[in-house]
Amino acid sequence: MPPLFIKVDGNDNVGIIVASEGVVSGAQDAGGLVVRERIPQSHKVALARIEITQPIVRYGQTIGYANRAIEPGAWVREEYLDLPAAPQLDEMPLATAVPASLPPLEGFTFDGFENSDGSAGTRNILGIVTTVQCVAPTVEYAARRIKAEMLPRFPNVDDVVAITHGYGCGVAINAAGAAIPISTLKHIGLHANFAAQPLVVSLGCEKLQPARLFESILPVMAEGNVIRLQDERGFAASVSAIMQAAEKRLEQLNRRRRKSVPAALLSVGLQCGGSDAFSGVTSNPAVGFAADLLVRAGASVFFSEVTEVRDAVHLLTPRAVNQSVARKLLAEMQWYDEYLAVGGADRSANPTPGNKRGGLANIVEKALGSIAKAGTTAIMDVASQGQKVTAKGLVFAATPASDFVCGTQQLASMNLHVFTTGEGSPYGLSLVPVVKVSSRTALAEKWHDLIDIDAGRIATGEADIEQVGWELFRLILDVASGRKKTWAEHWGLGNALVPFNPGPVT
Ligand code: CA
Repeated sequence: MPPLFIKVDGNDNVGIIVASEGVVSGAQDAGGLVVRERIPQSHKVALARIEITQPIVRYGQTIGYANRAIEPGAWVREEYLDLPAAPQLDEMPLATAVPASLPPLEGFTFDGFENSDGSAGTRNILGIVTTVQCVAPTVEYAARRIKAEMLPRFPNVDDVVAITHGYGCGVAINAAGAAIPISTLKHIGLHANFAAQPLVVSLGCEKLQPARLFESILPVMAEGNVIRLQDERGFAASVSAIMQAAEKRLEQLNRRRRKSVPAALLSVGLQCGGSDAFSGVTSNPAVGFAADLLVRAGASVFFSEVTEVRDAVHLLTPRAVNQSVARKLLAEMQWYDEYLAVGGADRSANPTPGNKRGGLANIVEKALGSIAKAGTTAIMDVASQGQKVTAKGLVFAATPASDFVCGTQQLASMNLHVFTTGEGSPYGLSLVPVVKVSSRTALAEKWHDLIDIDAGRIATGEADIEQVGWELFRLILDVASGRKKTWAEHWGLGNALVPFNPGPVT
């Protein structure tokens, strides 16, 4: 018999309903709690009487204050909670509880494609980078033909991907915010999964010129690697120029072979999307366990999503490896607070209606569950918006929380992606494998051909966090090696790239 509810911390005065059909009035728990009304799955039940103005506690943390008295066994609805004030950024403990290093995990490898810059690819892809949206349909047309007419002759190349996006012109390119999309696109352009050597298609007159995008990286700018459509004689000639350049690159890429490399060459980006109240007790802690394993194996693993970290940042700054990293983390929170204020928004703009349907009352509850993905190790570094993660170990890489914006920005740094979901999202990316982890078994069953790992088994007691964490770690190595494909890859699901542009559009 699975438990009626899950209580995470001894001090919690709410529990999360486990059964997929919810519970009915009169249902009784082994401990004697009697449910007073129908409560849907993943929503909160009061475990004791909660007086008005008293804290509502989950994960041992205050997620809100009761704005009415709540009886034991009652459904603690979203509107019963008043949002607590955000943690004051100038009062944070800095590097006060740095976790001791965990014992290294030796001997874990994956079969990757070695690159000259020291990185390793998990896929061998011809990436055609664009500097501006104007050329996107032309490049997509060429990519379709390259895939159909050329790729079959190059069996060691996995795919041909047009890296198209909405940036590149009609923007204030010297405004402070422009550095973020430009840096993001540059790092995507030099991605480990296309040998760090893109083919570049430019229009000619756009603001984001190839030389600006790739700065001083000369090999990218060498003869034949950049095609300028305004130099070509019409559409057919443009497509043929792209296809000729592609053929040369495909010949080079086709000579590459997978080879066993240390797991330390993995750079894994973590994200959640469509979270529910289970995410924080099943999928995210299991991902956190796998994150600890990756750290122990010497890999980079990073979490993101500023607005989902902001309300739990007081639990993260003590874990920073030193005060300077803790201050960098706070600077990213501060930057985002100001960004939201300029737009007339605040942190209550998150969560989404789906999150609330899934039982998440507010951003504090969402944040506490979200940071479980970060495991237990020290935070070694912080990458600003658009910057590439370079440190090994656990890193915070600042991004918006929006799935497709976060994923685009994380692509600057990752060769594999782990995405947890409670409500469900068919999300995928064309450049890296996306391993999807569900927080509930009901979702994994309903979406049997989209979810790669079911962490809902943790809620029902069929598996524990450690088991699912190890399973995920091993799946990451198999997927990175090309021995397994994720469901998103199987169906060819690649979401559009949406670089975060906080700068003005002209
Ligand atoms: Ca997200």
